[in-house]
Amino acid sequence: MRVLENHRLEGVQFLPSPNCDERSAAADVTLVVIHCISLPRGEFGSKVPSALFTNSIDFYRYEELKDLDGLRVSAHVLVERNGEVTQFVPFDKRAWHAGVSTWQGRTNCNDFSIGIELEGTDDSEYEDIQYDVLTAILTALFARYSAISFGNVVGHAEIAAGRKTDPGPLFDWRRLFSKLAKNVPSHKSSNSS
Ligand SMILES: [Zn+2]
Repeated sequence: MRVLENHRLEGVQFLPSPNCDERSAAADVTLVVIHCISLPRGEFGSKVPSALFTNSIDFYRYEELKDLDGLRVSAHVLVERNGEVTQFVPFDKRAWHAGVSTWQGRTNCNDFSIGIELEGTDDSEYEDIQYDVLTAILTALFARYSAISFGNVVGHAEIAAGRKTDPGPLFDWRRLFSKLAKNVPSHKSSNSS
């Protein structure tokens, strides 16, 4: 997998989200934020997360999600339980995923981050294929965006403490980083920052 000239992942379906805008500095991509989502909560394979990111949830069918009507959010990429990947926003644009957030003293993490959603919940294990696909995506991002390295891959909970808990305690960071370490040059794998 690699990132093409137009800041999209090669070979990945692209479903454009209107919920995005320009970054204040286009070159400023320095952080990756890992999230999880399931809609309705705990239901997998519904495709409703993709509908959320494209403002197309069928609220007649999903009446219990009515609170989400009018919500304008997105992620750059969604990885479903079966490993299917969809990109909604090119990486050079700002997706609306982090909300009120701070990383290393900088606020508004959407400005300078890439948001990746895993289909899942805080209290369920992730699928093996989701780790495989996430590793492939991150490897491609590391190769393309020089400022991104191990120390700049965080969970939503880390940048929105007290407000967000995803991707949750069952997300295996050690497993992710050990898979990644096999793919990326060693100067990128220092986790000291
Ligand atoms: Zn999140």
